[in-house]
Amino acid sequence: MYNMSRLRAVLTLPRRLRLSAPTPLDRNVDHMKFVLDLRRRGIMDAAVLRAMEEVPRDKFVMPAHARSAYVDRAMPIACGQTISQPFVVAYMTEQLEVRPEHHVLEVGTGSGYQAAILSRLAAKVTSIERYRTLADAARIRLKALHYDNVDIIVGDGTAAVPDRALFDRIIVTAAAESVPQALVDQLTVGGIMVLPLGPHDEHQALAKIVRTEHGFERTDLIGVRFVRLLPGQAQEL
Ligand code: SAH
Repeated sequence: MYNMSRLRAVLTLPRRLRLSAPTPLDRNVDHMKFVLDLRRRGIMDAAVLRAMEEVPRDKFVMPAHARSAYVDRAMPIACGQTISQPFVVAYMTEQLEVRPEHHVLEVGTGSGYQAAILSRLAAKVTSIERYRTLADAARIRLKALHYDNVDIIVGDGTAAVPDRALFDRIIVTAAAESVPQALVDQLTVGGIMVLPLGPHDEHQALAKIVRTEHGFERTDLIGVRFVRLLPGQAQEL
């Protein structure tokens, strides 16, 4: 529970007047404002907002960025990659329409933050990352937070995930120039995939693809900017 009188005092205290290191209460306040801001920007799904409220983003960014973990921006992580902007994480998750019985595949584990959010909504999450360094660090983080329904694999997410059944939902958190066929083939009928599509180093459109009995239906959503989806597992790191 929050201490309401202390909370009100901190909410009215301009950030630049905080002379000491942020306390757990400061972090709670920043985190609460962050969720209110997501709601103000149009994220409506209560379960998604709850997951964004529950998962501590400050544990997924580099220590030097922990103080600004609840600012709405992408941040650098190891291996030259980025943890996505929280609004985009919330928006993609909402568009994925995850239900509690679902098995979700994420391509591009990165810090593990998006996988952590999905783990609060789905029965099981499988996340695949081409850098072993990132996959190992994300696995340790998720274990420390007891998000035990996430399985992290090192490999190439543009190829079919070996020995895995079909997935109810697939989210790709790196930009592809076209829809990877091996991935859509792993969607159940009625399944949904959300991915950034478009030229590298430019803005991309978030696409939502629904697998129907007869094929696929695609809707383009908001503009986004993601790092590249690269083929193959990384040789180093
Ligand atoms: N979802 C992450 C952010 C992802 S950044 C988070 O919440 O922090 C995109 C990630 O996709 C990078 O870590 C990059 O290494 C990974 N990636 C790019 N191409 C890939 C591929 N073919 N297979 C698996 N991972 C890939």
